[in-house]
Amino acid sequence: MRKVAVVGGGWAGLAAAVQCIRAGHQVTLFEASRTLGGRARSLEVALPDGTTAMLDNGQHILIGAYVQALRLMEDVGVDLQQALLRLPLTLRFPDGTGLRLPAWPAPLDALTGMLGARGWGWRDKLSLLRHAAGWQCRGFACAPELSVAVLCRDLAPRVVHDLVEPLCVAALNTPAERASAQVFLRVLRDSLFGGGHGQWAGSNLLLPRRDLGRLFPDAARDWLRAHGAEIRMGARVHALMRDGAQWRVDGEPFDAVLLACPPWEAARLVEASGAPADGWLARVRALDYEPIATVYAMGRQALPLSLPSPMLSLRSDARRPAQFVFDRGQLGGPAGLLAFVASASRGSLEELQDQIVAQAATLGWPVTPLRTVVEKRATFACTPGLLRPGIAVAPGLWACGDYVEGPYPATLEGAVRGAIEAAGALT
Ligand SMILES: Cc1cc2nc3c(=O)[nH]c(=O)nc-3n(C[C@H](O)[C@H](O)[C@H](O)COP(=O)(O)OP(=O)(O)OC[C@H]3O[C@@H](n4cnc5c(N)ncnc54)[C@H](O)[C@@H]3O)c2cc1C
Repeated sequence: MRKVAVVGGGWAGLAAAVQCIRAGHQVTLFEASRTLGGRARSLEVALPDGTTAMLDNGQHILIGAYVQALRLMEDVGVDLQQALLRLPLTLRFPDGTGLRLPAWPAPLDALTGMLGARGWGWRDKLSLLRHAAGWQCRGFACAPELSVAVLCRDLAPRVVHDLVEPLCVAALNTPAERASAQVFLRVLRDSLFGGGHGQWAGSNLLLPRRDLGRLFPDAARDWLRAHGAEIRMGARVHALMRDGAQWRVDGEPFDAVLLACPPWEAARLVEASGAPADGWLARVRALDYEPIATVYAMGRQALPLSLPSPMLSLRSDARRPAQFVFDRGQLGGPAGLLAFVASASRGSLEELQDQIVAQAATLGWPVTPLRTVVEKRATFACTPGLLRPGIAVAPGLWACGDYVEGPYPATLEGAVRGAIEAAGALT
């Protein structure tokens, strides 16, 4: 049994702590804030009627291909059927055009969905089928320096606007011109052509039916405490120091340390510790970040606003920043509450909020904003040829989180995969 410190209580830190307990280690988890979940945490929001509702730091979606994250949720006692609303992959716009996959086995669902896409001509559909067949023949691999925009430059423009761009921004949180085609193809392969968790297809959209705290962190905390882990809340780690074969975390000795805090904070701790980790630090410093804004807004009419589907794609450009809207009333939240998501948006909070209110009005939805959450460094920019830092930092010092080397972009699945790998390496 080794004494292990986990620094950070987001999905990566919680996953790492669970794995370490399973391997028989003694675990202390340090979380700087008063809430577990990190970037995927819940948030209390005041409603117009004076009550409050638990919403999220940012609207999140999972897909059936997130097999490690879903398995972990189940392992700590989350009832996935209750916690998540499963939908076939749907990228429909408010006017009813776009793609919806039927609930059939892969790849039949993808094929039928492409052929049945509404608002697309035969040329659009054939163009997508030709490209999809080509990607499959090449094993969904491509040169690392290729961007998604270059990969899809010969694809029909309608397919690029209605499918590739929304998928790219949803999965990689990076616009197609700057996004890695290699990572995009990997996500496509796993979601459209790979299997999913249990009975679910890889492409299934899984929308949380409860706030993010109750989706996983609360269950993980209870599981960890029941299995002997110590969780210290409001405990920001200030300094790491090497002490022979051990590490001191703010003076307290541990046999190994797993850094599960965001990359910039991990780099601060590693640099100040004097660990010989120049190569690792250089890769962290080279990371760039993309923002995500979530605007929660309430319908202004007497009857609560209700969308035709819990999630819709939106046509977006510089003046219409939201790419997706979620009807939280259909997802266990207050009736009439919408969450507009604007990935990679750069304007000020007020400007963004005004633009989204105007964007909603053009769709016939008069709304009043309730709360806007902007995460400036929501995810690392998943750019072509990016060399991400590995899990090994120095002897006895490991890193995990959504940014470490791996096949996935910055997602809950990426965070959990990195954590499982790091905890396994330590063992
Ligand atoms: C708005 C938004 C929307 C997103 N949408 C999706 C989505 O739809 N699907 C998806 O899969 N992913 C989505 N993501 C990405 C996903 O949230 C992240 O990939 C994931 O939460 C990262 O988890 P992590 O544990 O690696 O890091 P974090 O969640 O950042 O956790 C790090 C933790 O470390 C703590 N910490 C920091 N410094 C210290 C310290 N010195 N000592 C102790 N603790 C410290 C922090 O407080 C935090 O709790 C979204 C992200 C955002 C912001």
